[in-house]
Formats: sequence, structure tokens, C-alpha cells
Amino acid sequence: MFGWNRFHKSKPCVLLQHLATRRTSSTPPRLVLGIETSCDETGAAVLDETGRILGESLHSQKEVHLKTGGIIPTVAQRLHEENISRVVQEALDRSGVAPSELAAVATTVKPGLALSLGVGLRFAGRFVKLHDKPFIPIHHMEAHALTVRMLQRVDFPFLVLLVSGGHSLLALARGIDDFLLLGQTLDEAPGDTMDKVARRLSLIKHPKCSVLSGGQAIEVLAREGDRLKFQFRSPMGQHYDCNFSFAGVRNQVTTAIIKKEKEEGMEQGRLLSCVHDIVAGTQHTVASHTAKRTHRAILFCQARGLLPRDDPTLVVSGGVASNEYIRETLRIVTDATGLRLLCPPAKFCTDNGVMIAWNGVERLKEGKGIVSFTQDVQYEPKAPLGRDISTEVRDAQIKLPLLKLKIKN
Ligand code: AMP
Ligand code: ZN
Repeated sequence: MFGWNRFHKSKPCVLLQHLATRRTSSTPPRLVLGIETSCDETGAAVLDETGRILGESLHSQKEVHLKTGGIIPTVAQRLHEENISRVVQEALDRSGVAPSELAAVATTVKPGLALSLGVGLRFAGRFVKLHDKPFIPIHHMEAHALTVRMLQRVDFPFLVLLVSGGHSLLALARGIDDFLLLGQTLDEAPGDTMDKVARRLSLIKHPKCSVLSGGQAIEVLAREGDRLKFQFRSPMGQHYDCNFSFAGVRNQVTTAIIKKEKEEGMEQGRLLSCVHDIVAGTQHTVASHTAKRTHRAILFCQARGLLPRDDPTLVVSGGVASNEYIRETLRIVTDATGLRLLCPPAKFCTDNGVMIAWNGVERLKEGKGIVSFTQDVQYEPKAPLGRDISTEVRDAQIKLPLLKLKIKN
């Protein structure tokens, strides 16, 4: 399997460093096309190097996957194949930019579903060959982490929490391609957990939730529930590191659901009377587990002097970051530790072509990871972000001071 280092060393992939040459104020901003197909969104966007979005298009497969109860990779692949040409053409048409005017094409090549990544990479390969354009392979999580810099000034280093349907990790961003991985999930991602809990509770049958993702459904129904009725434990309390275990939350919730179904004489597939309380408890436990690991990451970085004195920042992104309750819980931690909390608007938290194009812009400006053609570039379904220092974090054995999570339900 193709590795990032190999990509830098491989012969046919000539690194085009000269593309980072100094720009003068009179030269028009360069334009980058970004393409995203790593999971269940087909996205494309054209950005200029100031971060202006000139045109974008997004096709979501969520409704299809909602009906089948989860992503079936072959279905995702077919839907990407059916939509990618149109989505890219739409982004170009809306931007009024011709392929010949592009400075580069950036495309997600890792991590993600193999079949989905393959569609984007093959399309991009044909596109850059046809139009003779430089290619910028993109790490999907790097793109999530950097999106905030398109929206406002955020200097390196900053702490980043990525929580989505496929990932959860805490990392220190020190540069556009320089990350220290502090912790990650040991089993499943929080969005996946919430989707599974929502499915187990048949929330799709609730009139307010028929077209919502699992996480969105849980957020909506939790507003009417009591988060303390079901006392779920925040997992890994005795593990003084920054890793997550969301399956640990799900197991407790599933046990409670089975017990309630027995008590109410209810078959699986019907809505329980206490569904609001169960989802409120689930959301609260996901939020507090996430907040505790993040709190430890902040304390670790502060103890090691890894965060700047001026404006130390926590950036939160990924689909789950659009959850207001989770954001508010994290705000308690950042207020207590003196960090600025930044969450991009929901539309930039979930997968899209804009974040890929922006990552392309960042790499283009620094002349990093730009190649001349793509036949030697392969996708990588599994690809860690940066250098893993989670053992160092664990060895620091940082105990958390008590923080009261006083938030509205
Ligand atoms: P992503 O993987 O970044 O595309 O985000 C999709 C994931 O985010 C799915 O697992 C959703 O259930 C989850 N999600 C979306 N909105 C919310 C929300 N408001 N609260 C919690 N999870 C959410
Ligand atoms: Zn994502």
C-alpha cells in the first residue's frame, strides 16, 4: 500500500515547489478546484487563494444511507460515480472558472472508504491529465483541521478536536502538514455511536426526526428529555490519556434500552416512552466524555508549553461539532482553561469540497505536496494524522480537576 512518505519520494510524482514562488499584489489570486468523495458526500468547490469561494456543489447520500440503516460501501461508490462529473461541473460553472484557469486540483486520497476514495482519485486523475494541471493529494482530517483558517485568522499552533461519523481525535496543529496526535478513538466515532443509538431506538419513526441524521435526531429529542434520568458513565475514567471509547457509551445505552423494552413489554422497533430521557443521557455522556479528554489534552499542552501564550485556541470540527450541547460543554472546559473556542459554522464542519480546496490553497501557498500527475498516487483508507504522541500523553498521567457541567438540557 502506498504511503505518504513514499509519495514524497516516488519518482514520477515530481514535487512542484516552484508553485509556491512569491506572489506580488498585482498578480491575480490563484484558483484551486477541490474534490471530496471520502465517505458519503460528493463535493467540489473552486476557491481563490484568499479563501473566497467562487463556486461549490455538494451531493449528499445521507438520505439513501438513512433508509438502509448505514453506509453500504458499494452503494456509496455507485452514488459517487453517478454524481461526481455533475458536481464538479456545477462547481466550475457556478464559479465561472474554466479548467484552464486553475492553478491546481486538490482531492481527498485518505483516510476514508476505499471504494469512495477511489472514485474521487480516478476522476481527479483523468481531469488533471486532460487539463495538464498540478495535483494536490489531501488528507481528509488535515482538511477538517485547517478549514477554520479560511474563515478567520488562526495562527499555528492550535489544538484541534475532530469529531465526526468516522473519526474522533485530538491533535496539535503546528503547521499545515505538521500535527501531533494526542489521542483518538479506540473503537468507534461519536457520530457513529449516535447514529447506532438512534437506529436502535428507531428515531426515524419519530415525526420530528424522519429526515435527520442520528446525531441530529438525538440533539432535537434531547431538548425534551432529562439528561440525568439515565446515569450513564463517562468511559475510561481510570485511563489518564486522551483516547476515546464511544462504544463504551453505546454499550451502556443499549443495555438500558433492552431493560426498558422488557419493562414496557415493547418490541424492538417501536418508540419507547422514555426515549427523550435516553437520548438526553446519551448526548450528555458523549459530551462529557469528549470534554474530559479534551480538558486533559489542553492541560498536557499547557504543561509542555505547546500552546502560545497569546490567544491559545481550540478548534472543533466534524459533523458532531455542530451539536450545540457538545459545543456548550466544551465551552465550559475552554473557559476554565483560558482557551478561545472556535467552531466553524455547521456547513463547514461536515464534509464538503470547500475544505479540500482550502487545504489545496494552503499547500499551494507553501509549495507542499504538489505533484505533477497522479498515476502513482493511490488512496489510503487508513491514515493517521501526524506523529502519534498519545503514549507520552498517557505517561504524563494528568488527573483532571473537577469541572461542573452546568448546562441547559
Ligand atoms: P461527518 O462524518 O463529518 O460527515 O458528520 C456526520 C456525522 O455527524 C453523523 O454521524 C451524524 O449523526 C453526526 N451529526 C450531524 N449533526 C449532528 C448533531 N447536531 N449532533 C450530533 N451529531 C451530529
Ligand atoms: Zn469528515
